[in-house]
Amino acid sequence: MEDKFYQLASFEYVADVQIVKGKLESEGIPVFLRDENTLNSDPLISNAIGGVKLQVYSKDKERAIAIYDEIRAYAVDEQGNPIVCPNCKAKRSEPYYNSKGVFYKLFPFFEKRKYKCLNCKMITNSK
Ligand SMILES: [Zn+2]
Repeated sequence: MEDKFYQLASFEYVADVQIVKGKLESEGIPVFLRDENTLNSDPLISNAIGGVKLQVYSKDKERAIAIYDEIRAYAVDEQGNPIVCPNCKAKRSEPYYNSKGVFYKLFPFFEKRKYKCLNCKMITNSK
């Protein structure tokens, strides 16, 4: 059951999801959203649940990643500069949410912003 779907990404805002969802569907890839109803009913808890999870069939994984890579917005710092990975110097990072601790799920503003490098997968703290 778990292997049937691949989680492409999670989003903080439903509006962002709709952009990616529309693009993937226009390419003929079925898209499944998780937690969207929860998010819509109470936007304030979107951080607590890690946002909306966008999933595709595992068989569509490679194509979905390629399409998503074309249209996604990479993480930038407060000055609007791309986050540079300290390990491989790639400028392709995305915000990373630590979903392990219940405490941080309830109080996400206590957690320092982190970024995940899309090239080497290293997770870094913001400055
Ligand atoms: Zn890296």
